[in-house]
Amino acid sequence: MDIQALVRKNILNMKPYSSARDEFKGTAEIFLDANENPYPSPYNRYPDPLQWRVKEKLAALKGVKPEQIFLGNGSDEGIDLIIRAFCEPNQDSILITDPTYGMYSVCAEVNAVNVQQVLLTPDFDLDLDAFPKTFDATTKVLFLCSPNNPTGNLLSTAKIEEVLKRFYGIVVIDEAYIDFATGKSFVQELAHHPNLVVLQTFSKAWGLAGLRLGMCFASEAIIRVLNKIKYPYNVNIRTQELALDALENVQQKEAWVKEVVKQRDVMGKALRQLSLVEHVYPSDANFLLAKVKDAHGTYEYLMNQGIIVRDRSRVALCYNCLRITIGTPEENQRLLAALKKYTA
Ligand SMILES: *Cc1c(COP(=O)(O)O)cnc(C)c1O
Repeated sequence: MDIQALVRKNILNMKPYSSARDEFKGTAEIFLDANENPYPSPYNRYPDPLQWRVKEKLAALKGVKPEQIFLGNGSDEGIDLIIRAFCEPNQDSILITDPTYGMYSVCAEVNAVNVQQVLLTPDFDLDLDAFPKTFDATTKVLFLCSPNNPTGNLLSTAKIEEVLKRFYGIVVIDEAYIDFATGKSFVQELAHHPNLVVLQTFSKAWGLAGLRLGMCFASEAIIRVLNKIKYPYNVNIRTQELALDALENVQQKEAWVKEVVKQRDVMGKALRQLSLVEHVYPSDANFLLAKVKDAHGTYEYLMNQGIIVRDRSRVALCYNCLRITIGTPEENQRLLAALKKYTA
């Protein structure tokens, strides 16, 4: 499979910006090449444009090469760059599931890229019969979110593999919530699929949403394209330092995940007991999707109690559904107590 053949011609042919730190990478005593302020602030120096120290740690953790990693200002940067690298404006399309995470279509629309949607099955899995009817010669990138937002479930691995077999464009699997899931990560499958991109993030399990650090794992050919078109210094020094600290302390992330998963089970059981709750969908993420009798009324009531959940009623297949993030045990009990009063 030839990745270069999928890249937009202007991007294939362009000469990327070359920063001072790209042109001289070694160590030296005196740096007078980047017009920086010489007085330590301590952020007077530009960051490493390719974040090699973070990537080396991450590569060891994920079992890939550092050259197979792209780091961006949140996963959102990766989503945007993938669309810009492979989709010609006013011509090409991305294919997404409905429902799914909102940023894929927003990034496509900003870039004048068409959005094709394929409805999930009633149990929120891929509809393999509908897929080939939806994509066509303009479809360059397919976004699959697993575990999916806002439905919370993993897509079936066998079905994702089937899609990977049948689709010759770029396949992006967004694994923002994979730490909370029991299923395997597709990062381990990269060697078999040169067109596969796996997205993960420091925003959820790692507890670093405020840092803005997203990860793309892919073949070296795809990562080279993303590096070519990114802003030269897209991840700042502080973010790189704090990501290194987090990667030194994987046990902290694992402890949080364990607690959240435990609370997810507690909350699932407790919510199912409430008469206003009609259904709680199974979740592989750090949130629950619950169908209630009156989502809008429940949302407004909770808001007046100072508790904010997400009303997903207007989303396909999610009529009257609230998306509830798992909080601390205390926060979760406050939510349950409020909901119990609402029913009474
Ligand atoms: C939260 C979330 C992300 C994370 O985005 P960042 O830009 O990394 O904060 C990515 N994908 C999905 C599906 C999400 O729900």
